[in-house]
Amino acid sequence: MVTHPTGTAQDQCHRCGGLMVREEVREVNMVGWRCVMCGEHIDPLILEHRRKMRTPEGAKRLLEKAGIAELN
Ligand SMILES: [Zn+2]
Repeated sequence: MVTHPTGTAQDQCHRCGGLMVREEVREVNMVGWRCVMCGEHIDPLILEHRRKMRTPEGAKRLLEKAGIAELN
């Protein structure tokens, strides 16, 4: 039985449209996806980051955070 968890599942590579396969990321104990065509890797952290960057608000916040990190 094939189930697709809604929300985070990536069936198609955003770069080449290739097939994305599930891939365990042991270092962070998460499941990500890897493109069988071009090798593009996506994991929940990357998706979360991308989702935040999509809104002007989120992008601004991330940039501010990066600026603070640079000052330290
Ligand atoms: Zn690809």
